[in-house]
Amino acid sequence: MAEKTPGSVFTETADRLEREGDLSDGELAFLLQCADPGAGEYLAAKARAARERVYGKDVYLRGLIEFTNFCKNDCYYCGIRRSNKKAERYRLGEEEILSCCAMGYGLGFRTFVLQGGDDPYFTDERIVSIVRAIKKQHPGCAVTLSVGEREKESFQRFFDAGADRYLLRHETATESHYRRLHPGEMSFEHRLRCLRDLKEIGFQTGCGMMIGSPGQTPEHLVADLRFIQGFRPEMVGIGPFIPHRDTPFGEEEPGSAETTLRMLSVIRLLLPEVLLPATTALGTLDPRGREKGLEAGANVVMPNLSPADVRGKYLLYDNKLCTGEEAAEGVRRLSLRIERAGYRAAVSRGDHIGFEKAETPAPEKDILKAQP
Ligand code: SF4
Repeated sequence: MAEKTPGSVFTETADRLEREGDLSDGELAFLLQCADPGAGEYLAAKARAARERVYGKDVYLRGLIEFTNFCKNDCYYCGIRRSNKKAERYRLGEEEILSCCAMGYGLGFRTFVLQGGDDPYFTDERIVSIVRAIKKQHPGCAVTLSVGEREKESFQRFFDAGADRYLLRHETATESHYRRLHPGEMSFEHRLRCLRDLKEIGFQTGCGMMIGSPGQTPEHLVADLRFIQGFRPEMVGIGPFIPHRDTPFGEEEPGSAETTLRMLSVIRLLLPEVLLPATTALGTLDPRGREKGLEAGANVVMPNLSPADVRGKYLLYDNKLCTGEEAAEGVRRLSLRIERAGYRAAVSRGDHIGFEKAETPAPEKDILKAQP
């Protein structure tokens, strides 16, 4: 079958983004929306080449530990928002978190991502204690926190305790759209200030957003790209919006996997050094979503290390994948799939290239052999 080639306006625009690293707002929107056959594939090939120039064929694995699904916030899109009385709540204690890390270390993970709702039970002291304990047991590993908005002093304490990275999705760079997604008690300005604080402190900082969230327009996506370009995060987490039935957005349409993939590619071309996960949400919407994400320029995957009995409770959206290769035990199969897609599952901290300092020594065991 003949290969599909988009029209010359598309190819010339994509080529210029690759060459010059920037385009006008209208041109960025055009790359996201153009319906020419083969347009997504053309853009993805450019993004793949850009990522391979910086990170080669390595895909970094992060062990995700969803340690609490309590949340004091009420974001309209989120299945664990405080108003969802149907959510079955849980918290993991420090010992349980440490045993997840020990299991993950044995499987070859060298980054642990502690993710939770905005849960006041986890005071600064508790977070500091957990971070210190992980770093003591696994000094060669990176710890990423994703525990919501706090004040700068708190972030500084986490950093001083040894946390390396912090993820805080900005969700949208357009204030009116932020208001559409969040109740009035939440502050757009505070969210952005948190991101600036994290970067100033020295965290490898991640922002990000959902693609196709209610009310989102191509102009909003371009504003997100401009924000990302200016902020220069070390990581960007994006995934399609997927509705959760017990939220105010339960009846909304999900976002598009195709637009998510185009956004991944454009972000890779704007910031070639960025760490870009192929997210679980992408894998939920499309059975080959994760591989397609890697093919579109992503270079990180985050299997779930949380204990099996709580995985099904951290439901930010409906039908979330939480078994099989999404789970850490499936890491061998996941690694094989990564290899089949032409990449290599790296056993390393996988720092942003600007932060490479404490890479783990060469592993004794290949991750593919790390489990029977
Ligand atoms: S998106 Fe985050 S802050 Fe908002 S309700 Fe969900 S867990 Fe809480």
